[in-house]
Amino acid sequence: MNIHEYQGKQLLRQYGVAVSKGIVAFSPEEAVKAAKELGSSVIVVKAQIHAGGRGKAGGVKIAKNLDEVREYAKELLGKVLVTHQTGPEGKEVKRLLIEEGSDIKKEYYVGLVLDRATSRVTLMGSEEGGMDVEEVAANTPEKIFYEEIDPVAGLTGFQARRMAFNMNIPAKLVNKAAKFMLGLYQVYIEKDASIVEINPLVVTTDDNVLALDAKFNFDGNALYRHNDIIEMRDYDEEDPKEIEASKYDLSYISLDGNIGCMVNGAGLAMATMDTISYYGGSPANFLDVGGGATAEKVTEAFKIILSDSNVKGIFVNIFGGIMKCDVIAEGVIIAAKEVGLTVPLVVRLEGTNVDLGKKLLNESGLNIIAADSMADGAQKIVKLVG
Ligand code: ADP
Ligand code: MG
Repeated sequence: MNIHEYQGKQLLRQYGVAVSKGIVAFSPEEAVKAAKELGSSVIVVKAQIHAGGRGKAGGVKIAKNLDEVREYAKELLGKVLVTHQTGPEGKEVKRLLIEEGSDIKKEYYVGLVLDRATSRVTLMGSEEGGMDVEEVAANTPEKIFYEEIDPVAGLTGFQARRMAFNMNIPAKLVNKAAKFMLGLYQVYIEKDASIVEINPLVVTTDDNVLALDAKFNFDGNALYRHNDIIEMRDYDEEDPKEIEASKYDLSYISLDGNIGCMVNGAGLAMATMDTISYYGGSPANFLDVGGGATAEKVTEAFKIILSDSNVKGIFVNIFGGIMKCDVIAEGVIIAAKEVGLTVPLVVRLEGTNVDLGKKLLNESGLNIIAADSMADGAQKIVKLVG
């Protein structure tokens, strides 16, 4: 789960990690009020969306007086920002962070991620922070430094200071930077984050070390123990189909292809998507209906697939192990009748109660194309959607 920059900064503040003063605003009036309250000579108006790259897309504005704050707030609220992280459809700005302007001497990069190769949290840092960090990673990877963190010892002061030295933080500010990193690590661990990225971390002309941006991502499986994080969830930022799916405990992720997939088991779902791609098609979603799904759950899953206007055909690929083929068939039939099936449907069933499942589908009156294997089904649906 992602949160907004201003929420991330609230969290950092709780842990004593230095951030600039800022207030969230939902309207131009609130923006002006916030700017008055901050009272600094330079005010930054920042679009709050769950995507980076806002600076380059015009989502970060520097205002020199209250009139400019109002003007920028009006301009940004309701605007659809297209950044390199939003995709071409962009994201509508509904909140702003009104923040004290910092006098930046230099921009750095600091991040914490779970490295799946070593199974350890890794601290990353670079002196080449700011809006072009992706290019640094691509062209001069030697400018990015890593500290692998022992889960028992945690991030040590030594490691944090070594990182600060590697990043060429001015010597007199190394301790401030190390304290920053130690606090960052503490939030990461205590809140079960999967990514924390501070880009830029800045050194200011008055020798402060602080976060000007904050990106957090949390492990969804640990959210049950963090009510404060759950409260930060912003449904406006999420795909409505994914929200609907999560109500029924379905693992669903929207993709940009045109073949809807209904599959049971994450492994089979991945293999199905690969097979579709192999035959030249493109999946519209990842969907794992799970093991013990009921007909109701299958119905909802099918409805979610059908609600996607990009879907030009559906491939149901089920291996009935714990899941029974007749339950799947029942769900598909109910949903298709309720919503109306206007696109071709290819079904491949195998496993428990397969004959009963096929019989239900055959007698349903629905226009269903049966497939003998995964490859056969994928080829058929790819051909049908053209
Ligand atoms: P994004 O990563 O989405 O582009 P950032 O929050 O990193 O957004 O802002 C982009 C750039 O805007 C920063 O690299 C920094 O140069 C500038 N900036 C952001 N916040 C402030 C601030 N409070 N004071 C001064 N400059 C800022
Ligand atoms: Mg940034």
